[in-house]
This record gives sequence, C-alpha cells and structure tokens, in this order.
Amino acid sequence: MHSSDEEHIDTLAVHAGERRPGPEGSVVFPIYQSTVFAVEPDTGYHDIKYLRLSSTPSQTYLHDKVAALEGAEEALATSSGMAAVTAVLHSLLRTGDHLLVSDCLYGGTHDFLTQHAADLGWSYTSVDPQRPHTWAAARTSSTRAFLVETITNPLMRVGRLREVAEFCRQQGLTSVIDNTFASPVNFRPLAVGFDLVFHSATKYLNGHSDLVAGCVAGNAELIGQVRRTLNHYGGSLDPHAGFLLARGLKTLAVRVHAQNENAMALARFLREHTAVAQVSYPGLPDHPDRAHAGALLSGFGGMLSLRPTGGLPAAQTLLKALRLAYVGPSLGGVETLVTRPASTSHAGMSSADRSRIGITDDLIRVSAGIENAEDLIDDFEQALR
Ligand SMILES: *Cc1c(COP(=O)(O)O)cnc(C)c1O
Repeated sequence: MHSSDEEHIDTLAVHAGERRPGPEGSVVFPIYQSTVFAVEPDTGYHDIKYLRLSSTPSQTYLHDKVAALEGAEEALATSSGMAAVTAVLHSLLRTGDHLLVSDCLYGGTHDFLTQHAADLGWSYTSVDPQRPHTWAAARTSSTRAFLVETITNPLMRVGRLREVAEFCRQQGLTSVIDNTFASPVNFRPLAVGFDLVFHSATKYLNGHSDLVAGCVAGNAELIGQVRRTLNHYGGSLDPHAGFLLARGLKTLAVRVHAQNENAMALARFLREHTAVAQVSYPGLPDHPDRAHAGALLSGFGGMLSLRPTGGLPAAQTLLKALRLAYVGPSLGGVETLVTRPASTSHAGMSSADRSRIGITDDLIRVSAGIENAEDLIDDFEQALR
C-alpha cells in the first residue's frame, strides 16, 4: 500500500537510509569492518559502537533502509532469519507465558517451538489463521502474542491477516508476522496494524542466494526490547554480509515485480497443462484465498506449488528433467529454484500427516526467479513432456 506522503517502494529501495553525502563522497555506503569505535573516555555502555551490539555505522545504515521499506519507526538486522524469530520470541515471552501460532509455520520456527518452548516454560496453541471466530477460545490469561506468516509454505495460503492484527489490538496481544514470502514490495504488515514484522533476509530481501541474514521491524520500544535480547544471545549481523544485503535491497522492487510476473505466468501455464493435476498460487482465480489476498497484497509473490499427474514418480522425473531451474530448498533468489517439500522442509513428518495438510509426496514448490517468462515456461514444458 502506498500513501502519498512517502516515496514509492522502488525509490525507497534505492535511496532510503543512504547517507548523503556518503563518507568521502562515496555513492555506495562502505563496509566499516571495525569491531569497535573509539569514544570519549566516559561514554556509557549503551552509547558505544560495537559490532555485537548492532550499533556500528554499517549496521545502523542497514537498519534505516529496512525500516523505510517496512514503513517502521526502527529496524534491526540479525545474523539469520532464525536469529530474528528467536530474538523476537525471547523478547516477548517469559516463563509461564502462552503464544498463539498459525497452524502452518515455517519448519525452522515450528521445530524451535516443538523442541525448546517447553524447556523455556512457554506454552503455545496452533490456530487456523483462516478462521477468526476460533481464536478467542484458544487465548488464555497468559497469552502474550500471536505469530503468523504472510504466505504459508508450501501451499501459499494467505490468512485473515487484517483480522489477526485487529484481534491482537482488542485483546492486548503483540501481533508478529513473518513476511519472508511476500517481502515489503507485496505486503507491508505494519500498515494493516501488525506490531512486529520479521524476515529471513536470506531470501527475497537479499535476493542473490549468497548470504544468511534476518531483520525485524516495528516501533522504537519493541525494537529496543528485541535489540537488548539479540545483544545477549549474540545474533548480530556481520558488516560484510550487511553490505551485500544492502546492495541486494537496492534492487528488491524490480526483482520482486519480475518474480511476481513470472510466478503468475508459470501458474497460468501449469494450470492449463494436462500433465499437471493441481497448482497453488494465490493469484489464480480458483485459489481459496484469492479474494482476500487480492485485497491485502499488492502482488501475489514469486512462490507457487504444483502436483504433476502421475504422482511421486512423475514429480521425481520432473525435477530431474528441468534444465534452467535448480533443485534446491531455498527461495527468493534471482534463479528459479524448485524443491519437493516432502523430502526437504517437511521430511520430519509422516507421509500420512503430510497428506492430511495437503503436502503430498508429489508436491513440487517453485520459487520463480527473474529469467525470461517464456524461457521458464519452455523449461517446464519440456520437463513435463
Ligand atoms: C528461510 C526462512 C526462515 C529462516 O531463515 P534463515 O535465514 O534460514 O535462518 C524463516 N521463515 C521463513 C518463512 C523462511 O523461508
């Protein structure tokens, strides 16, 4: 969503956070590869510049850029997407607290909760983000926050996100959203009322499949809380990775627009193909969330999934036959990536449990890159043959 008093996201991606003039007149903000910065003798701990405290120039520059992209007061870079989600949860929850979570979470987040929440004294309840009338019954007197994702993996469902933010405001909970799959080009959660948004910047924000990073954005008070937690757990971002991330961010809008278009073109092509049984893409008219996703998002994203007719053998054959697309379990890069979630992100579940939630053994997830759409379609066409 764009309001008239600020620049468009394509412009923000290039110019937001830039120091003008840059040091020595540089157009590109340099890497400050210095652990610590000299200060006046009596400077307090909170005012020193030290890499682990995320307070050095390379880091604060990146924070300003990310904050502008998400329309946030402040932002914080982290050493990975998992460092972002764990710092957020550790900053919001104390022993005895309860969390509401979407019933379809990223595998790493899901595994963190199943393997660590009990030891930390946290409890949580999974709810269906499509069914707002069920949320109040799952809330307890110790509930502190509600964690959802913009577009779920791998069936690309879009929950009732506006209602999540509204429910949290009414109930006094902190609303938290993982916006990795959408990127701020397609969705800006703070504008619809979310309190905290985080990303695996490893994916779309960087966009070049060459680093691991994360970030969190929100108001100054919440980000201050997350920063103190991150400082203690030690998940700050190295300035060299931060430099690459800032460089990737400058092309975020053009990349994501191209990926939206390629995903839509591929989804339309695959849906008509006789060797394809099912396509999940929120931009297709028959996707169950098409109507409210259309109202919420400014683009449907670069992620889709499909099931070839012919089941698992056909899916395995298709993955082997693709020439342009890489088979790899990540996403958001300039190159098209495909993966079979039953063998990667959801391999920990039984085949029966996976099938129950629609993640069949023959499901293939596609992260559309920025190649030419006709070339991508040709690649899938020859591979399906
Ligand atoms: C990859 C991913 C993460 C974890 O990010 P890392 O950078 O790998 O730590 C979290 N959420 C989503 C939706 C992701 O795709």
